[in-house]
Amino acid sequence: MPVLEIENISKSYGSIKALQGVSLQVPKGSVFGILGPNGSGKTTLLSIILNVLNPDAGNFSWFGQASNNDQRKKIGSLLETPNFYHYLSAINNLKITQSISGRGNPEDIEKVLYAVNLHDRRNSRFSTYSLGMKQRLAIAAALLGDPGVLVLDEPTNGLDPVGIAEVRRLIRELQEKGHTIIMASHLLNEVEKVCTHVAILKTGKIVSTGPVDEVLSDEDIIEIASSDNNSLKAVLEQYKDIVNIKREGPYLQVYCMRGKINPADLNQFCFERGIVLHHLSIQKKKLETRFFELTGN
Ligand code: ATP
Repeated sequence: MPVLEIENISKSYGSIKALQGVSLQVPKGSVFGILGPNGSGKTTLLSIILNVLNPDAGNFSWFGQASNNDQRKKIGSLLETPNFYHYLSAINNLKITQSISGRGNPEDIEKVLYAVNLHDRRNSRFSTYSLGMKQRLAIAAALLGDPGVLVLDEPTNGLDPVGIAEVRRLIRELQEKGHTIIMASHLLNEVEKVCTHVAILKTGKIVSTGPVDEVLSDEDIIEIASSDNNSLKAVLEQYKDIVNIKREGPYLQVYCMRGKINPADLNQFCFERGIVLHHLSIQKKKLETRFFELTGN
């Protein structure tokens, strides 16, 4: 059962079509990246699933049910950086956030500070924090009430490299603790590093969605078959530059680094070892294809 199911959502601002028939499913326990360039509709999509905006068409369901207040409590979010008081400590800032939002209870504050690795600095003024620490405190605020799901809009935007590394590490740690994280990003490289699943958004439409390994693979996949796939597999295992071999129905799927393998050489290599291929086809160079689709260049 997916944590979130989005079906055919569309949203326009006047003549601007921000989202056009967006559908996707977010698996439980995933770090789900919504990847797209500026203006592709990421913030609009996150705002809709958080009930900040109403869609013009389509629907979505959290935890397999129509939206209701109980579900809302299971979702923590960070759409905009919260306004923390610069002269107050982390702990006092979170006390204020907690009392205004009513999320969780005062005892949660210590827990969320531990979760984002700020407990040691809980009594320092917010103004003394690095950018990464400020963003981790914002994530701590989103964690009040122990939501199973976190929705984060560009969580590393505007951070320096140290802050980026801290926040990415935190996202992975939160996933390991069982949270599902949905995050928008315009950085392919960030999604590859942090996310388990991705939906690529371009001018309001989903170009591709699925596990990151499949959608953003930087490997060529060669599909190959002979009358004896066991012997073929044994032969291929001796061939350099092959990363992995998987069985897929009547074929073997050979994964190799992009551009490393010439199919004619591979064919000859097999023939010289007594294997005649009756099928050989190169699958899409996925990463390049996705870049192309994403940027339109
Ligand atoms: P960014 O990374 O720049 O935040 P995004 O992928 O989050 O971009 P959105 O902010 O959802 O994209 O914007 C999608 C489109 O809708 C853009 O063309 C944007 O200009 C437009 N848009 C967003 N909000 C409004 C609004 N309130 N009024 C009019 N147009 C809007």
